[in-house]
Amino acid sequence: MDKIIVKGAQEHNLKNIDVEIPRDKLVVITGVSGSGKSSLAFDTIYAEGERRYLESLSTYARQFLGEMKKPKVESIEGLSPAISIQQQSVHANPRSIVGTVTEIYDYFRLLWGTIGTPTCPECGKELTATTVDEIVNGILGMPEGEKIMILSPVVQGKKGTHQELFEELKSEGFVRVRVNGEVKMLDEPIDLDKNRKHNIDIVIDRAIVSSEKRTRIADSVELALKKSGGLVIILSVESGNEKLFSENFYCPVHQVSFGKIEPRMFSFNAPYGACPECSGLGEKMEFDPELLVISTRSLADGAIKTHPPTQQTWWSMWEALAQKYHFDLYTPFQELPEHVRQIILYGDEGEVEFHYRSSRMDVRSTSVYEGVIPNLKRRYFETTSPEMREWFESYMKSIPCPLCGGKRLRKESLAVKVAGHSIMDVTEMTIAKAWEFFQRLPEKLTPHQLMIVERVLKEIDKRLSFLVDVGVDYLSLDRKVSTLSGGEFQRTRLATQIGSGLMGVLYVLDEPTIGLHSRDTDKLIRTLEKLRDTGNTVIVVEHDEEMIARADWVIDIGPGAGIYGGEVIAEGAPAHIRRHPTSLTGQYLSGRKCVPVREKPREGNGNFITVKGAREHNLKNITVSFPLGKFVVVTGVSGSGKSTLVNDILFKALDKKLNGSREEPGDHDEVIGLAHIDKVIDIDQSPIGRTPRSNPATYTGVFTLIRDLFAALPESRMRGYAPGRFSFNVKGGRCEACQGDGVKRIEMHFLPDVYVPCEVCQGKRYNRETLQVLYKGKSIADVLDMTVDEAFEFFEAIPPLKRKLGILRDVGLGYIHLGQPATTLSGGEAQRIKLSKELSRVSTGRTLYILDEPTVGLHFDDVRKLLEVLQTLVDRGNTVVVIEHNMDVIKVADWIIDLGPEGGSGGGEVVFEGTPEEIQMCSASYTGRYLKKYLEDMKRCVDGE
Ligand code: ADP
Ligand code: ADP
Ligand code: ZN
Ligand code: ZN
Repeated sequence: MDKIIVKGAQEHNLKNIDVEIPRDKLVVITGVSGSGKSSLAFDTIYAEGERRYLESLSTYARQFLGEMKKPKVESIEGLSPAISIQQQSVHANPRSIVGTVTEIYDYFRLLWGTIGTPTCPECGKELTATTVDEIVNGILGMPEGEKIMILSPVVQGKKGTHQELFEELKSEGFVRVRVNGEVKMLDEPIDLDKNRKHNIDIVIDRAIVSSEKRTRIADSVELALKKSGGLVIILSVESGNEKLFSENFYCPVHQVSFGKIEPRMFSFNAPYGACPECSGLGEKMEFDPELLVISTRSLADGAIKTHPPTQQTWWSMWEALAQKYHFDLYTPFQELPEHVRQIILYGDEGEVEFHYRSSRMDVRSTSVYEGVIPNLKRRYFETTSPEMREWFESYMKSIPCPLCGGKRLRKESLAVKVAGHSIMDVTEMTIAKAWEFFQRLPEKLTPHQLMIVERVLKEIDKRLSFLVDVGVDYLSLDRKVSTLSGGEFQRTRLATQIGSGLMGVLYVLDEPTIGLHSRDTDKLIRTLEKLRDTGNTVIVVEHDEEMIARADWVIDIGPGAGIYGGEVIAEGAPAHIRRHPTSLTGQYLSGRKCVPVREKPREGNGNFITVKGAREHNLKNITVSFPLGKFVVVTGVSGSGKSTLVNDILFKALDKKLNGSREEPGDHDEVIGLAHIDKVIDIDQSPIGRTPRSNPATYTGVFTLIRDLFAALPESRMRGYAPGRFSFNVKGGRCEACQGDGVKRIEMHFLPDVYVPCEVCQGKRYNRETLQVLYKGKSIADVLDMTVDEAFEFFEAIPPLKRKLGILRDVGLGYIHLGQPATTLSGGEAQRIKLSKELSRVSTGRTLYILDEPTVGLHFDDVRKLLEVLQTLVDRGNTVVVIEHNMDVIKVADWIIDLGPEGGSGGGEVVFEGTPEEIQMCSASYTGRYLKKYLEDMKRCVDGE
């Protein structure tokens, strides 16, 4: 079987199609957005592969998985176990780091657990362990006939009278102990000050150094080790010199001892290795005074947001404190002395007397003032309500753990070194740096150590190399997985899969080039080829030109989106697609069509927003000006700092100033030029709503107009139906069985919720009476079921509706249904719905729009439409700032800001600022080089318009 044969696929918009996919090949599925690529690749092929796999599991495992929906397909032959490598990290577990998800950290644990050398966590001195034999040899190496005492140190620097210990030792038959250096008899009373620290050693034996006594000495040493847990002191009686031996690793100066070094010492997910303060999270949530206090206000004026002065007990406690510490409750918080502020927030020692009048009685009480923060902490740990927890958390921020400094492990574990490095020293490195470290490590090991860890080093090297290959070498191994971008996460997973060396697997990937600069696309493709060459089938949903060109087989789905798509337009080798007469992809690939270049960059309005001194993450204290009234594109290789600059600093700073957002922008000095804009809007790919109740019609306001129209119909007037009657959010006209949802949610354990149509209204959402009101023969439910294109024709006579629907059409969404639940729209579709809402607003011409890689999920033809929309926003005087890698977008920019030159610590600088014309001249810029090459190739394009 060398093919996967799909017959009669009908999932979503697929039109009963048959597809043959060659196995063990690199296959690209392409087509315009919404044409049905994911429906084929993920919802049909992958879903069936996964379903069959789950069915093969034991019945016991299956009962937890529930009934898996069978995709709408007649048959699929030649399917192998399927693995999908998607963009989103499903488990945003704060404990997952790049090192753990790639298994590299597991090998690190083995490495440090086998050949790690412990050092003293206090002084850093290297520690060694000694065996009983070595200790005995040491003793016998002393001059023959020397008198020695073998002591077992059982108490080291501990307070107490230690009477029980003495009793116990006596009952065990010991005769003498050495207390604080002085030998005493156990049958005489030993008085110790209970508030002093004492050292107690058991006198195990007194002997004379002689090789004939070897057995006796060895027995005594062993007993001493056993009693003290691994320590023995050999005292030479005449000279008074003593020597401490440890069976464990031990620092005699700081009295720190280590047990056996084991891999589990390095696991931050288990108590044995985890830092006891943060249990291995590396950070702690703390109440943050900055979030709690409005420092320009006084206590009387509500300085403490969580404790208003109307809370009587608190107010009266503060009155008492004010008397005790002589301060005024009407002084702004920031002007109170430091120690007073500390007391208010963290509590006071000793009791205060306070009194207040409650409605019925005079309350007089004495109590210790707890302090605002300890009070919040206590209530936070006590509460069981998720809402309350969230409320508390809104006043908290996470800080690095004060004990381990974010290193997650106990200090003993961190004191174990390989080539002078702790396990976290290396985990904190970027993948590139770690790779270098391991290249040089073998030279630093002894042949014996090398023999032990040879396999481990190979596994580590292999995995690091794959990560370098897929272009994420700038990530540090301790980077939290939850903070990775979708593309970074996917590429990390991809490298891990290659590392696992599986064969005969079907891999399905969704746009792996997301977030990747053209410079790195080649590396990525080579990785996919490697995966194929080890005997796997690789199916990629992709729009990238180079990826399509290098595929073994291409399937072009189309011709349009939604109901206008769902067919196979062309399939075959890339050359076949290129020549295909009707394939849209083929037309773009061959240059018969292209995204038109702009004649001249815009002048802009002469104003700027300037970010000064940006330092967050890898940014190197840079100052960047964003010219207003222009289409600005921020470029640079992955990890160069684009999102940090644009999303973390520019957007958050403006959002805070203009929209009053509470989120703190990343580290920078200031943002100037705010007076030139009045709004900032981030148009991202997040859903337009989280429930099936939101849909394109409700989000864009089209639905309000439609409801008004239905309420104005004669039939409605006669029945007395107001617009609310046609809402599915309120009682009245909606189906009460599903409360207007049209679907019912069934909760599945471990799996996403499943929605089934409501059996009462058959998914129509309204009750019978409401559905009897018709406009041009259609009910409101029929209207919600229309596509934008259909509705555009249908409402031709209603200008405001026609206008809004026209804009949805313009952004390329003519195919979506007005009532399609928000939860089923793709990220690109959600983004374009948001854009259409912006376009339908009356423009002030002073808005700054920010978009992060808007071409994700878009075919060449979609990119062209998107650009028209974005350019319209700029034509109206607004500013659009986008982060992009797509050359068709970069080439039509009015202004390019190129960051780099490399990713991670090798980036974070401004490489270039200027026009597309100029950047091609800038040899330091990767973007410039690739744009130049791209435009030269594009000369062949004949599609001028
Ligand atoms: P592509 O991957 O080519 O962008 P999709 O396969 O995601 O396209 O979508 C094809 C069509 O099916 C689109 O009209 C889309 O809106 C629709 N669709 C996708 N998922 C669902 C779903 N869960 N329910 C209903 N329609 C869906
Ligand atoms: P780009 O958007 O150009 O791909 P980013 O701004 O995402 O680059 O990243 C710039 C640098 O900052 C990279 O080295 C990246 O690993 C690091 N970085 C980004 N986000 C975080 C984060 N949440 N925590 C730590 N480092 C981060
Ligand atoms: Zn800690
Ligand atoms: Zn219903």
